Amino acid sequence: MIAVGDELLAGHTADTNSAWLADRLRRTPFPCRRIVVVPDDEPAIAAELAAAAAGPAARVFCCGGLGPTPDDVTLAAVAAAFRVRLREHPVALAHIGDVVARMHRAGWVPSPAINPGNRKMALVPEGAEVLRNRVGMAPPVVLGLPGAAGRRLLVLPGVPIELRTVVLEEVLPVHLAGEPAVAVEEVAYRGIGESSFYSILRTLAATFPDVRFGSYPLPAAGELVIRATARDPARAQLAAAELRRLAEGLRPPPSPAG
Ligand code: ATP
Ligand code: MG
Repeated sequence: MIAVGDELLAGHTADTNSAWLADRLRRTPFPCRRIVVVPDDEPAIAAELAAAAAGPAARVFCCGGLGPTPDDVTLAAVAAAFRVRLREHPVALAHIGDVVARMHRAGWVPSPAINPGNRKMALVPEGAEVLRNRVGMAPPVVLGLPGAAGRRLLVLPGVPIELRTVVLEEVLPVHLAGEPAVAVEEVAYRGIGESSFYSILRTLAATFPDVRFGSYPLPAAGELVIRATARDPARAQLAAAELRRLAEGLRPPPSPAG
């Protein structure tokens, strides 16, 4: 997953898109393996896209930088990375025209004609398919990647409501269909310090080499969550049951007298 935006690197905006998308991807055949954040800079985005294309990922996401201003360069970077031209896409242009006309009717823009900034958004890498963006103007695109059959790049808008709508409506059903690749079981504890689980987690790791264990203190909730992640749901469940059994003897410290 490649998140694009100077504002993310500067700390002006938290990268909630990547967190939201990773949460969705966990329940698909394509759990997220890597997240990177890059500036609104064409060579930087293109380099990251080329690295992702050379890697093993079956799905690559690149989110943000599709807008109407000159600092939105993501589609130009896609074209540069895969050595294709940018072409005005009729589907994207028609959609942009519809949105501008609607905005004009609502009194939000002075003219029903698309301006150069709007038109720039219709420039799409050659060979890409344009997806529907029901709640915004920026055209999401899908482009095949070299390597194994079916590998693809999905380029999505950065505005969170647009990203989420496009993922839920257009991407999940078509491009992420199938059974989840991993199963996650959670066990929560209260009042027991993380270090108390040291030897238990070592024992579990040795007993379940096919299960990944992680321990996550959640101070706000006053909880410690331990997660068991495995390809096989039955193994994750078995591991969680064994954790509960081994941790039975652990007790919160008695509250101070008086
Ligand atoms: P679009 O691709 O839809 O045009 P953009 O990235 O080109 O989006 P920006 O103006 O950069 O457009 O961002 C639009 C809004 O979305 C901004 O408020 C920006 O901070 C926010 N945003 C962009 N990326 C993210 C992200 N990864 N997580 C949360 N918010 C984001
Ligand atoms: Mg941006």
